[in-house]
Amino acid sequence: MNTDRPITELLSSGRSLLSVEFFPPKTEAGGVQLLEAAEALKPYRPDFVSITYGAGGSTRERTFRYAKILREQFGWLVMPHLTCVGSTRDELLEIVAGYHADGIRNIMALRGDPPKGTDTFVPSPDGLRYASDLIALIRENFPDMCLGAGAYPEKHPESATMEQDLIHLRTKVDAGASFLTTQLFFDNEHYFRFLHACRSREIHLPVLPGLLPALSLSQVQRFGPMCGSSLPRALVEQLHVVDEHPRAAEAVGVTWAYHQIRELLRHGAPGIHLYILNRSSAAITLARSLERNDHSSNHA
Ligand SMILES: Cc1cc2nc3c(=O)[nH]c(=O)nc-3n(C[C@H](O)[C@H](O)[C@H](O)COP(=O)(O)OP(=O)(O)OC[C@H]3O[C@@H](n4cnc5c(N)ncnc54)[C@H](O)[C@@H]3O)c2cc1C
Repeated sequence: MNTDRPITELLSSGRSLLSVEFFPPKTEAGGVQLLEAAEALKPYRPDFVSITYGAGGSTRERTFRYAKILREQFGWLVMPHLTCVGSTRDELLEIVAGYHADGIRNIMALRGDPPKGTDTFVPSPDGLRYASDLIALIRENFPDMCLGAGAYPEKHPESATMEQDLIHLRTKVDAGASFLTTQLFFDNEHYFRFLHACRSREIHLPVLPGLLPALSLSQVQRFGPMCGSSLPRALVEQLHVVDEHPRAAEAVGVTWAYHQIRELLRHGAPGIHLYILNRSSAAITLARSLERNDHSSNHA
């Protein structure tokens, strides 16, 4: 059995990391799409890939299965997500034990969203209430696990204030989080301000910025509010102009993300986490253009 490297080791290498996020598909066709995207991304060698855990804990088996496939068939470092939703403490420990036995040493530990149609998160009987509880549980039982946690540059939608959110973030850090990945944002100022707020509260973990290369106006208008991420007017206007033309809209989204990435890396972000929704094309264009840019800047 191979034991994975903790992502914290990569984060401390000083190299800009590239990670991409997959979701475990429900259908056979979706599975084919995921594998095609993974195959297309192979030459760009992401430093790690994460696999989400479906709403309501509905993807327990599928998250496990695709984590295994991406790790074993593609040789990638994987970070399955795990949420508190729909599981008891013992069930959560059992899931982590399964990953640990397979040699997986990186998990993104989250609370999860309330099930569709409800606004309030209610923990399962004998379950956990907050991500910090899950982090503490895993840390206690599997001290060698590297644990990612979620962070919200525009604050978590349920938090009344950013200050409150940061207090709760501190609890996650104290419980044993190893690094943070952000919710998607389209304006880097949110990330820079958030980072400053973290550092001034002695939260010194690496904060990997999460970006969504937009595909269309309707997509960002759906995802933005859902994630509590604001939409810059300029992006909305640019997407509006090309609304009837999916390829042009994708180009707008990729160009926007490209400029975000360049600025983030120039200002010391430890890498980039791309929400790719099981599609490879935007990630490939970004990986290519960034590579070319890095290459040309080496020779400047
Ligand atoms: C990088 C990333 C990946 C994600 N992947 C998934 C996924 O795979 N599956 C999925 O279902 N969802 C995923 N999500 C969404 C996430 O589950 C939701 O945003 C969820 O609402 C909060 O999860 P959390 O882990 O940040 O929760 P928490 O850190 O527990 O925070 C939830 C809310 O409770 C508040 N809070 C925390 N601790 C306390 C406390 N002690 N007292 C009072 N209030 C407190 C926080 O301020 C926040 O408002 C992801 C989010 C991110 C950023």
